[in-house]
Amino acid sequence: MTTDAPDHRTLGRALGLFDSDKLMGAGLPYWLPAGAAVRHALERYIHEAERRAGYRHVYSPVLGKRELYEISGHWDHYREDMFPPMDLGGGEQMLLRPSLCPHHALIYRSRAHSYRELPLRMAELGGMYRSELSGVLGGLTRVRAITLNDAHIFCTVEQVAHEARAALEMIRRAYEALDIRPARYRLSLPGGGGKYVAAPEMWRRSVVLLREVLDDSGLPYEAAEGEAAFYGPKIDVQIADPAGRESTLSTVQVDFHQPERFDLRYTGADGAAHRPVMVHRSIIGSVERVVAHLIERHGGAFPAWLAPVQLAILPVGDDQLALADDVRSRALDLGLRVELVPRSHGTLSARIRAGRLIPYQAVIGTREAAAGGLSLRLRNGERLPAEPAGAALRRVAGACAPGGGAAG
Ligand SMILES: [Zn+2]
Repeated sequence: MTTDAPDHRTLGRALGLFDSDKLMGAGLPYWLPAGAAVRHALERYIHEAERRAGYRHVYSPVLGKRELYEISGHWDHYREDMFPPMDLGGGEQMLLRPSLCPHHALIYRSRAHSYRELPLRMAELGGMYRSELSGVLGGLTRVRAITLNDAHIFCTVEQVAHEARAALEMIRRAYEALDIRPARYRLSLPGGGGKYVAAPEMWRRSVVLLREVLDDSGLPYEAAEGEAAFYGPKIDVQIADPAGRESTLSTVQVDFHQPERFDLRYTGADGAAHRPVMVHRSIIGSVERVVAHLIERHGGAFPAWLAPVQLAILPVGDDQLALADDVRSRALDLGLRVELVPRSHGTLSARIRAGRLIPYQAVIGTREAAAGGLSLRLRNGERLPAEPAGAALRRVAGACAPGGGAAG
């Protein structure tokens, strides 16, 4: 580990991914077009992975009444991390939500459920807020507004292990697609102090469940006390920045507490009312933290499917401009993020250098123009033989699909 390793804050600004403004406030970064493109690709990936895994997506508001968080337990156990309530008059107080769970519990509760619907997997990429001191804020890792890749699985106790295992498998696949690695897996247990809800039997049961999942998975893990959520233990997937500092990206949590507090039910095969368990899980954590990690991990040379610009089209001279424009239209139709960089931006070698983080560059000279072909150039300097434009574009589109072949 070196101390001059890339810092996502410096790199993120240099690459035009995100920035902040004192008037918007500390810890409230905004996303520039290049960063927004990366984020959008990530959001699409996760949405699709969840759809395939049987999740249904919802949208819920980022505010809730104070009573909501009194019921969930956040008000008692998590208040110091929350923004102060907004007084709306008439005794009504609203809070910026510190998590999505209470909203999802209410959405579950709004309809009657049968055991046949379980496991019911509810997902949302939603906003939540954390009142951090302005002194510790910076970049995308210490922020006050967070967009979480969140989901809650309402299920029976018997279904918990299967759902937790499936979530771990989704995490493994996502890390592979993102080309990132876990630093370690952690079984996060409660510690001392009044931070945790007092329900010894509930803690014992959920720890046993998660321990079994980890033991069966064959993944190496360490148990750590004082790292649990206030309502239950969790499996945390830790990542490390280039300086070796660890943070939690993905989690799988078991929760008997909130179903109890919200009086959640389903009708069992016996016709009687039963209490579901909530499995909270996040595959890529918050989009802020995962993008910060991706910037540092890849030094801005994102996997092709995430790259802000996937293909740069470089006409050697103005004579090839019309063809270059046609290639751009065809690339856009194939769903690629493409940029035409004409001669007015500099010499060919200067343009190639400026686009060194772009996975594919297509140079169009007189030879290519005459043959209707393209020569692709990869980030590692490798040049593919010229081929008809249609075939070259399909090759790029294939490699830019999530999990597609990585460009050099
Ligand atoms: Zn939750």
